[in-house]
Amino acid sequence: MVEWIASYMERAGDYPVRSQVEPGEIFGALPSEAPESGEGWDEIFADLERVVTPGLTHWQSPRFFGYFPASASGPAILGEMLSAGLGVQGMLWSTSPACTEIETRVLDWLGRLIGLPEAFLSESERGGGVIQGTASEAALVAMVAARQRALAGGRDGELVAYCSSQAHSSIVKAAMVSGVGRENVRLIDVDERLRLNPVALAEAIGLDAASGRVPFFVAATLGTTSSGAVDPLAEVSEISAAAGAWLHVDAAWAGSALVLPEARWMIEGVAGADSFNFNPHKWMLTNFDCSALWTRDARAIIDALSITPEYLRNAPSESGGVIDYRDWQIPLGRRFRALKLWFVLRAFGAEGVRAHIRRGIAHAELFESLVRESDVFEMACERSLALVCFAHTSGDAPTRAAMEAVNDSGEAFFTHTTLPGNDGGERFVIRFASGSAQTGEADIRRAFTALERAARGG
Ligand code: PLP
Repeated sequence: MVEWIASYMERAGDYPVRSQVEPGEIFGALPSEAPESGEGWDEIFADLERVVTPGLTHWQSPRFFGYFPASASGPAILGEMLSAGLGVQGMLWSTSPACTEIETRVLDWLGRLIGLPEAFLSESERGGGVIQGTASEAALVAMVAARQRALAGGRDGELVAYCSSQAHSSIVKAAMVSGVGRENVRLIDVDERLRLNPVALAEAIGLDAASGRVPFFVAATLGTTSSGAVDPLAEVSEISAAAGAWLHVDAAWAGSALVLPEARWMIEGVAGADSFNFNPHKWMLTNFDCSALWTRDARAIIDALSITPEYLRNAPSESGGVIDYRDWQIPLGRRFRALKLWFVLRAFGAEGVRAHIRRGIAHAELFESLVRESDVFEMACERSLALVCFAHTSGDAPTRAAMEAVNDSGEAFFTHTTLPGNDGGERFVIRFASGSAQTGEADIRRAFTALERAARGG
């Protein structure tokens, strides 16, 4: 199996990128009941090629440019295997001290690597990092901590949360799950570059406060899903602080780029945030799932999520105290996810991670130049890091048709979004997101050629 995985990483580009099966095909290939007696490994293994691979969309293909990348790597896969092999469950410090302490240390490493202030790291008075499964869970954890802090502070009235109209749906989902309610999330207008408009945010907060509501939570996005827009964090941070609201920073995708000094402008003002999250499982060579969340106020998270009586609590950095990560997340049980992140940071080193991110950006620059030279496609907004949004010059229908033709062919894979158009309506655009460790320049050119051919109708 290990040999197969290693060879798959080299062969991922040989498959059609998007699975070509029809709905129900894979389900139908399996018997309706589990076998009564155990089967031999050869029989089980044979189904990998027979049943599984035809039903895969090959996220590790060098021509997978959809969504955001899920960039895996050898060291991360070994870390993941080791986690399964050790089979420990790290809900409490005592259930495997290494599971907790390696996670704490590695998140300090990672926090420093992306330029987070020390107040977010474990040796500060109240801060620290924790691995969540996803950015969606991180947003939910931040929101319940914010609610707890607002209620504990005696703030009375309906709680209201704020994010831009371009923020990821996980922010609204966090409000749905936490009981804040989706109707209590204000989707704030954006400027012409699709960044949250701080004047509109301040106005919305002012109106709610004046009518007795409690502005308790603001989410700023660094790198929106649709266009990679970066909200003006310093201004949002000031407004949130003045309102007494918890500021959560969602940098799910773009956070990986903060390893580059030239990308640090994005976190100007982060010292005022209460929580910061990004997904190493997107662009940082660490296979799914691994979402890093840091907070300056771990006590608020523990207050919201601990169901342990006070006398059993372990706060971070209390002398002799330990961290029980079950109190920093929604579930109780947790895997040893820090291993894969630890292996990635050690095997690649900071330099290797920076080189990987720079390569992803260089690939997007190449793709952008192909779009700009083309007479059938045009940029739909400015490139953000490794994300290019573009469209057919003749409108939505040919844009969609070109994308679908390429995806159907299996040659490359793109996904779409809509962005505000010049006519006030929404425009259908194709997204190109690079960042796979397997991708080379030839893959970019091949994918673009396929798109242009499709766009010319042939
Ligand atoms: N936030 C942003 C900006 C995203 O782009 C995404 C996913 O692409 C998410 C949150 C959700 O990520 P997850 O799947 O880890 O919940």
